[in-house]
Amino acid sequence: MLLRYNINMENKRNTEQKRVILSALMQADHPTASELYENIRLTNPHLSRATVFRVLGQFADDGVIRRLNLLGSDTRFDARTAPHAHCHCVRCGRVSDVFEGDFVPLFSSDEVAGYKILSTEIEFNGICPDCLKQDN
Ligand SMILES: [Zn+2]
Ligand SMILES: [Zn+2]
Repeated sequence: MLLRYNINMENKRNTEQKRVILSALMQADHPTASELYENIRLTNPHLSRATVFRVLGQFADDGVIRRLNLLGSDTRFDARTAPHAHCHCVRCGRVSDVFEGDFVPLFSSDEVAGYKILSTEIEFNGICPDCLKQDN
């Protein structure tokens, strides 16, 4: 009886931790695991860094969130799983979502060049508007 109680408490705690991590990710802008942990720490100091990293990895493996490996950047995470591409500033590291454009039909293709497509990553690397302004 006591054992069952402990398991239930453990499940509850895990579920709550996952909820906190997912909602923090939804409010953040393509953070790295470290950046997200720093955000979460402010309001949930009891959540460990290891837990945040582990849960993010699980979520990404389960397809609940997206894992982004952008050029020259640490792994970032994205709560938006709807098909979209990313613009990545090579100077400040800013990441912007791209949802529309000529390439949109590519996102919904389930076959390209004879491959059965499981996921699509399109990455644009460039210089963001804020960094461009500093040049002028
Ligand atoms: Zn920039
Ligand atoms: Zn995104």
